[in-house]
Amino acid sequence: MCRLCNPATPKALCPGKAAIPSAPAESGSGANAPRADVSAGSLPGMSGEKGMRILIKGGVVMSVDDAVGNFAKGDVLVEGDRIVEVAASIEAGDARILDASGKIVMPGFIDTHHHQFETGLRSTLADAIVVNDGKPENARNYYEAMLLGFSQHYRPRDVYINELYGGLAQLDAGVTTVMDVSQIHHSAEHSDAAIEGLRDAGRRGVFGYFEGWWEGKEHPGGARRIRERYFSSDDQLLTMAMGGEIYIDGYEEMWAIGRELDLQIALHVVTTFGMTPTFDELAAKGMFGPDNIFIHMTGMTDEAWKAAADAGAHVSLSVPIEMHMRHGEPPIQKALDLGMSVSLSSDVECTMSADFFTQMRALVTLQRMRANERALSGDPHHPKLMRTADAIRHATIEGARGLRLDRKTGSLTPGKDADIILLDATAMNVAPLNNAAGAVVTLMDRSNVDTVMVAGRIRKWQGRLLGHDMEKLRRELEESRDYIFEKAGVAHDLFA
Ligand SMILES: [Zn+2]
Repeated sequence: MCRLCNPATPKALCPGKAAIPSAPAESGSGANAPRADVSAGSLPGMSGEKGMRILIKGGVVMSVDDAVGNFAKGDVLVEGDRIVEVAASIEAGDARILDASGKIVMPGFIDTHHHQFETGLRSTLADAIVVNDGKPENARNYYEAMLLGFSQHYRPRDVYINELYGGLAQLDAGVTTVMDVSQIHHSAEHSDAAIEGLRDAGRRGVFGYFEGWWEGKEHPGGARRIRERYFSSDDQLLTMAMGGEIYIDGYEEMWAIGRELDLQIALHVVTTFGMTPTFDELAAKGMFGPDNIFIHMTGMTDEAWKAAADAGAHVSLSVPIEMHMRHGEPPIQKALDLGMSVSLSSDVECTMSADFFTQMRALVTLQRMRANERALSGDPHHPKLMRTADAIRHATIEGARGLRLDRKTGSLTPGKDADIILLDATAMNVAPLNNAAGAVVTLMDRSNVDTVMVAGRIRKWQGRLLGHDMEKLRRELEESRDYIFEKAGVAHDLFA
């Protein structure tokens, strides 16, 4: 039995001990391949093609690269899938012009931890905490309701539509890269469906191969097949990471496979999961490395923190979720004081929005609240206040570093792939523009995301997501949701 299970949890439901019927053999097909609703000769239709030059002209350019700098009025030249130049003014001859006047031009957001398979269950657990504390009001907690409940009933087709819809929804909100923390590997077909859903959303992503639950599951050894089949090249939009949850029996094998395949090893590190002793032991044994992504990092000992920092591990914080679901206080200051690379992550939409404006605002306000309290209490050594430009770094380049993608994305740097968003600074909730980083972090929301480009390809254009019939996909997601609710024996009550 793992540490998360209550004594009352049937042993068969414990991860790694599963005795649930085998997954139905069924493929998550690519039935939802992008629609051809983008005309071939249009700017979006031609974007991303080899040799195609697009000059993003006259925007407020926030590069998130100190060597490139920022421009109150600047241009970004894209050729094919790459950024080739960023400057105050660029002459680009035959390039097609993308007028960016009134827009903030910046790198797309990077979400380093998102359980996309739960998209259809959005807000189902809006009032839940993460694990059962024995109180009647928390009987419907995340671990039991989601992982031991709903998730057990997913078919490959459910995995596919959830992944696809969640990915497109976040792309529409300017999040161009994700690490999908996928815990739905009941069978090889489930894993394939998850990867195909990620792929068909067409954004940059890291497929996080976390746990599987059913008898006959391919996980964790299936990592070798998946790596070979889908991820033999690093020169593609999708890469792979290995889940290595230390609250699950057999995590040692997951870590060994991850390192054998040169994959990063990502895991939740949460005090309420009762994992502190194991995490301390791994720290003492020198098991941490720069390949580790530690998610949450709440409640860990100073020794473990030091070992994580010394090893060059990355920290992914889901600030609103950690506060809301009782993971413990987000350790923002701790990670910053140790000089660690810190990114932001949305975690679960069953409980909180996956919108990155929400993430940045939560980060900056919580850090400043803590620092301000210390200043008010007379502490002369209170931490420096986080600035809005810092929040943007955590939401972009630090995420890229965390996922080993910083040579490709995370900033507007010549030579990197063109993962670029244009945010409308003339909108009612923003105008007049007086501070670029401040406007993005303190004023904007997803309604300001005007244009989204991934590897040079325009995926959202003038406020509209391209290439997918979202009405059709929504109906498919609702059908999947209905099936999962029914199988889980949960009434669909909007006021429960
Ligand atoms: Zn998580």
